Amino acid sequence: MRAARRTLRRPSDLVAAGLVPPARRTAIEAVAARYAVAVTADVAELIDSADPRDPIARQFVPDPAELETSAQELPDPIGDDAHSPVAGIVHRYPDRVLLKPVDVCAVYCRFCFRRETVGQGRALSRAELAAALDYIRTHSEIWEVILSGGDPLVLAPRRLAEIVAALAAIEHVKVIRVHTRIPVVEPARVTGALVRALQARGKATYLVLHMNHARELTAKARAACARLIDAGIPMLSQSVLLRGVNDDAAVLAELMRALVECRIKPYYLHHGDLAPGTAHWRTGIDEGQALMRALRGRLSGLCQPTYVLDIPGGHGKSPIGPGYLRHVRGSNGTARYEIEDFNGRRHGYPPTP
Ligand code: SF4
Repeated sequence: MRAARRTLRRPSDLVAAGLVPPARRTAIEAVAARYAVAVTADVAELIDSADPRDPIARQFVPDPAELETSAQELPDPIGDDAHSPVAGIVHRYPDRVLLKPVDVCAVYCRFCFRRETVGQGRALSRAELAAALDYIRTHSEIWEVILSGGDPLVLAPRRLAEIVAALAAIEHVKVIRVHTRIPVVEPARVTGALVRALQARGKATYLVLHMNHARELTAKARAACARLIDAGIPMLSQSVLLRGVNDDAAVLAELMRALVECRIKPYYLHHGDLAPGTAHWRTGIDEGQALMRALRGRLSGLCQPTYVLDIPGGHGKSPIGPGYLRHVRGSNGTARYEIEDFNGRRHGYPPTP
């Protein structure tokens, strides 16, 4: 039995939709009291509730394991707060800022790195937004503004258009990047009005889609992405490496190829952040590197994301490999490089040009 086309927000909704067994309801209520829950109708329809390991359910249906927080996990795992000079702004790198107009998302991913802050129904007030825009205006080193959140595409197109127009009017801002999950979790929101709202006059708008499994790219999601790309908005993707969802070379390969087939360039594969209650999703870095190595061997360069770790404490992202080049010393003591090919074979390379 499935509920009508509305977003499921309460454990009782999830039980009624057949996504949670009735016997689990009390345990899920404890999770929902701690972290926001939302499963859109599009996502609910994708879930195979007969499969206890369904990779879509695993991303969105609460699990009692979320209440187990380990000592190394952090409420602000990527250190946003340390770089927030005014409400709604995170200024971590010199040439770009995050602007977070809203903390609401269409869905709440169970592994969310901002799970302690999203889903509380907050949006920047007019005065806070004005202060955030002033911050961007007065920092001429800001070349790119990343609209994040929450999910900025939950905003009404008119409100979004106002923000995009205000950013486009700032001379030194050349690029507006939008981080969103909307085209896959609620593709009907990608209307003509929303697409027009994103088209910044005289500036480039990029859209970075968060998705983690090829099944998320339904026909409706593909059509929504095509509407954006056909309107001149290039798309990239970011995925999170998640145990039980995509920690498998064949699954990752299918995901990356599906993205490229839709004209979406895989950008980041994130190592799981140390968000509270998410240990059951995290892999080891060595496992992530082995998966990247497997992709390198079997997939086009277009399908290769960069495997990155957001360094806890707010120190930014770094690529975490694997590495293919190393220094070696020959039997006569001379140094040279050794480079590994996609079959794992090593080849010498001279140390000087
Ligand atoms: S869409 Fe992004 S911000 Fe929202 S819950 Fe998922 S990961 Fe977190």
